[in-house]
Amino acid sequence: MAIKSGREYKESIKKLNLKANVMGQKTGDLPEHELVEPSQKAVAFTFDAAKNNETKNLFCVESTLCKDVVNRFTHLHQSTDDLVNKVKMQRYCGVKTGCCFQRCVGLDAANAIFSTTYECDQKHGTNYHERFKDYWTWIQQEDLVVDGAMTDPKGDRGKRPADQADPDLFLRIKERRVDGIVISGAKLHQTGMLNSHEILVMPTLTMRPGEELWAVCCAVPTNSKGIHYIYGRQTSDTRKLEEYKLDVGNPVYGGQEVMTVFDDVFVPKERVFMDGEVDFSGLLVERFASYHRQSYGGCKAGVGDVLIGATALIAKMNGVAKASHIKDKIVEMIHLNETIYSCGIACSATGAATAAGNFQVNLLLANVCKLNVTRFPYELSRLATDVAGGLIGTMPSAADFEDPVAGAYIRKYLAANPEYETVDRMKVLRLIENLVAGAGAVGYLIESMHGAGPPTAQRIMISRQANIEEKVTRVKELLNID
Ligand code: SF4
Repeated sequence: MAIKSGREYKESIKKLNLKANVMGQKTGDLPEHELVEPSQKAVAFTFDAAKNNETKNLFCVESTLCKDVVNRFTHLHQSTDDLVNKVKMQRYCGVKTGCCFQRCVGLDAANAIFSTTYECDQKHGTNYHERFKDYWTWIQQEDLVVDGAMTDPKGDRGKRPADQADPDLFLRIKERRVDGIVISGAKLHQTGMLNSHEILVMPTLTMRPGEELWAVCCAVPTNSKGIHYIYGRQTSDTRKLEEYKLDVGNPVYGGQEVMTVFDDVFVPKERVFMDGEVDFSGLLVERFASYHRQSYGGCKAGVGDVLIGATALIAKMNGVAKASHIKDKIVEMIHLNETIYSCGIACSATGAATAAGNFQVNLLLANVCKLNVTRFPYELSRLATDVAGGLIGTMPSAADFEDPVAGAYIRKYLAANPEYETVDRMKVLRLIENLVAGAGAVGYLIESMHGAGPPTAQRIMISRQANIEEKVTRVKELLNID
């Protein structure tokens, strides 16, 4: 069975010996780094859940590709049930970790590349699909983590790739060789990169004739020669480096992002899945984005569950749980969160088979799902902040709580409902702070806005998919208008 445990996964990542620039220093030993470790634990959770008797039925699935049981995070969806189970699995991971667990990007990229390469081969006589099948069979057998890399820096937004002052502002093919290609450029906002074995590079937008060098899709190992990682900052990130961990908010898990630079990276031919076929670049982007917009219907609902649970708990700790306006605010949070999840389930249940045989989500509903995600977590956060009170922004530090004099005052003056310890109240307040304004807000809020594309991208897709003319026709029929 091709299923790894969290421990085996961590050991395999350590062997890659990745290095990154982290806050001004070139750093190895990333898995042990206090900033990186929480995010790696979140990925490790996706492995352990597949070994856990209570959850393995959801996380393990028979692969038609490698003919073995694999982790669902590497599965090519064979039915709408598979799509629904993916969202259920993501919600579960979200509520257990309270952060981004990173592994969905590669899963979404694989499903999009699988169907797009099939259709590209049909039209152009290329053999990308067979190459990709070989590659992904290996990924499944080894139970590897793959980061899907789509977002280019994009430079001047008013200019096409070829018109930029620097052609690398969109990742491109710099050189074609007999045995492969050399790529140059960068991918931004890469959440799972430092915790992955492999990278699936995809174009960032629909390329046009003349832009063949930017229409590239390929796979490279994360420790390839020429790849450089530069660690991103998050709000309150250095709290992870402090002695007392209470102020971190989420004591076990966390997220991160890196800038990934491809400085003349060689890709052998068997790992190239698009090389200039501009007419399929848009389809690949659209399919990947829609899968990832579906994914948000699971993961963000799971993190929303954490925020709702923390809000309900702090209401008890503050002694206001029975107030009708508090109950109403928590019901409102549940309504918003379940609306996100409903869209994730709906776009999965109404998915359909692609020509290649794997299943694609309903594009309209996946985009409705993500558009809701660009708004509802913000409203959930506003309500949580309202219920929790101003202490989430003014509470003394954990270090002061440990001080014999200041700590005694903090215990005395931050006591509320006597059924709860002051320190537990502080833990819950810090978790809420983490999600609405701290390091966790990068994943829960900023990523909800921009991950898998900003709201305008979903609006464009919704207007394209909604078939407004058909609705107009129905109204004309109803009213007998010629
Ligand atoms: Fe998965 Fe959500 Fe993170 Fe995307 S944002 S990788 S869907 S957990």
